[in-house]
Amino acid sequence: MTDHYDVIVIGGGPGGYVAAIRCAQLGLKTACIDNFRDKKGKGAPGGTCLNVGCIPSKALLDSSEHYEMARDGLGAHGVKVGELSFDLDTMLARKDKIVSDLTSGVTMLFKANKISYYNGHGTLHAERKVSVRDADGKTTAELSADHVILASGSAPMELPPVPFDHDTIVDSTGALAFESVPKRLGVIGAGVIGLELGSVWRRLGSQVVVLEALDTFLAAADDQVSREAARQFKRQGLEIRLGAKVTGAKVTKNGCVVSYESGGKNEELTVDKLIVAIGRRAFTDDLFDEGLGISTDKRGFIEIDENNRTGMDKVYAIGDVVPGPMLAHKASEEGVALAERIAGHPAHLDHNTVPWVIYTHPEIAWVGKTERELKDDGVPVATGQFSFAATGRAKAMNESGGFVKIVAHKETDRILGVHIIGPRASELIAEAVLAMEYHASAEDLARTIHAHPTLSEAVHEAALAVGKRAIHKAN
Ligand code: FAD
Ligand code: AMP
Repeated sequence: MTDHYDVIVIGGGPGGYVAAIRCAQLGLKTACIDNFRDKKGKGAPGGTCLNVGCIPSKALLDSSEHYEMARDGLGAHGVKVGELSFDLDTMLARKDKIVSDLTSGVTMLFKANKISYYNGHGTLHAERKVSVRDADGKTTAELSADHVILASGSAPMELPPVPFDHDTIVDSTGALAFESVPKRLGVIGAGVIGLELGSVWRRLGSQVVVLEALDTFLAAADDQVSREAARQFKRQGLEIRLGAKVTGAKVTKNGCVVSYESGGKNEELTVDKLIVAIGRRAFTDDLFDEGLGISTDKRGFIEIDENNRTGMDKVYAIGDVVPGPMLAHKASEEGVALAERIAGHPAHLDHNTVPWVIYTHPEIAWVGKTERELKDDGVPVATGQFSFAATGRAKAMNESGGFVKIVAHKETDRILGVHIIGPRASELIAEAVLAMEYHASAEDLARTIHAHPTLSEAVHEAALAVGKRAIHKAN
């Protein structure tokens, strides 16, 4: 017997589970199929983000930041700490508990919204029939739907000459669960994931070397932000070797010997653990039958139109499995907009206002275009910059590194990009996103009252600085 739904969502990450909830809220009979299981074999919806991505990484970033703060930061506040140590097992158990609380929360939300949750692997067939299989490959359900959403997410990319052994050479999932702090840690890739995980283990005592193939550090960020980040990371002891293209790795008795090319020379680095963080690939393994009209591009992402439609009628795709930034909030918002369109409502998502955040210390966040991108496009710009060092609150926190930079159109004053490096940049960027959503000018932000003393005053002053009238700096 085939159960029929208005909507079946394959994949229960922040794209899929959020799309399913919004579909159900709009009165559609919805099913969500997700194959993630926890260590005990229990279904754990929430995808990469909740299980092995955003959440566990932030749990460890927070714990390790507290430790580093107690070790190196509290003295400046006059707080004396006796002998300091940490218990890695407790840190890891705390992280695991947060993950299981949140994945159970998604299961509860499925129930509350009357969404049928199937734990297993879903495959789409002709006529929008969907089969669900368990870990042994046995078919456990045969379903069909009027609409199908593919939200199968992504998986870590492997570097062919450096295959994972999931012990010494690990992906991000392995790096969230080291049983002890590696003395020497190598990270391949100075992207968001490499920098965040490198920071966690550096704070806990590892000597970390990040090998990055490109000559430019954080190429997607504003130039001044990436320069400041490189300076701060160097000061912290996070060694980043640019122009270092990894070509192989051999696990020996004395550690893992990583070979890389740099400046035309062959170099080696010996480490105890190696994290490969060279990016993620769209995950489409056994997701749909051939010949359905669904195509993937040369990087493996499912091809869609501006309304997330694939080449098969009433079959859509969202999140990491389609082109665009691989970010949880982008996946969720695509899911919400798509659910609304399926239910017959108008919905639109502005991909230009997707915020980016790197949760290192200091945090880095941006939205919109960089000054360089705009100049390359021939757009006339005016910029305003303000350092946290000149805000009372950042000083009180002893967190005065970094700045806010606003890039506006020189003639219309419309805000085109906001770039922040500094304390709580991840939270401060929300104001910039809202401003850009409302097509605000720098003047609009400049005339908005910001509470004193707060970090948000740096955003306010940067907006004032666009018009060369910041109060707390010489313009
Ligand atoms: P996923 O979260 O990957 O979910 C897809 C789900 O579908 C998975 O559970 C998968 O097992 C399941 N699935 C796949 N195929 C099938 C199938 N055929 N049948 C059934 N189930 C299937 N993003 C941020 O925005 N902020 C962060 O701080 C952040 N930190 C990160 C840290 C790390 C270490 C990593 C690895 C990623 C991080 N990301 C972060 C990225 C974020 O996790 C992804 O962008 C997000 O999870 C994408 O959501 P999704 O729903 O598209 O896919
Ligand atoms: P991201 O795509 O943001 O996750 O970052 C991945 C980073 O890994 C990019 O900056 C790549 O340039 C880098 N990278 C990819 N392959 C290699 C390699 N063989 N050696 C060193 N760095 C690499």
